[in-house]
Amino acid sequence: MLIPLFKKVINFFDSFPEIGPRQALRLFFWLIRQKEETKKNFLANLETLLEKTHFCHNCFFPTVEEFCPICSDPKRQDDIIAVVARETDVLSLETAKIFKGKYFILGGLVLPFEDKTLIKERIKVLEERLEQNNRFKEVIIALPYTREAEPTLKYLNILRKKFPDIKFTFLARGIPTGGEVEFADPETLRSAFLGRITD
Ligand SMILES: [Zn+2]
Repeated sequence: MLIPLFKKVINFFDSFPEIGPRQALRLFFWLIRQKEETKKNFLANLETLLEKTHFCHNCFFPTVEEFCPICSDPKRQDDIIAVVARETDVLSLETAKIFKGKYFILGGLVLPFEDKTLIKERIKVLEERLEQNNRFKEVIIALPYTREAEPTLKYLNILRKKFPDIKFTFLARGIPTGGEVEFADPETLRSAFLGRITD
């Protein structure tokens, strides 16, 4: 039987991604074992990180400045934009060093039976950005080839029809079916990126 304190811990971590009850308790046991000073530092660091970090006004990548380092980099191409589901996808693509354009982070995927207002709002922002800025020549839809990504692709297809002058491309099927961009090794990511398709 779970004592109320443990239930509280599990409930607290319940909204964290990929943290199950066992991991929640393990994390909690680790945290309470730390020295008082470490605990204080942990809380102070967490507070600073959460207070100072916000989303880049352009691409929604977390940053402490108004714009993230990628958007502020004058050496990056600003006529090509890669639309990704998550922040970790940007990290993987940056590690693979194959893309020199800008990003747009959706914040996840639109899933049926789930309230994904945030993602729909961001797609709206992307639409506004494409409308206001006529320098975009290509939009790379860098979403995983999963069934879960299909509703999001439908939304993005509406944009594709709305902007016939912009080339919309998709990652080649180098990414395995059911695989995630985030977890692909740099080589797979490279062939998927270089062999991207228009349909
Ligand atoms: Zn940015």
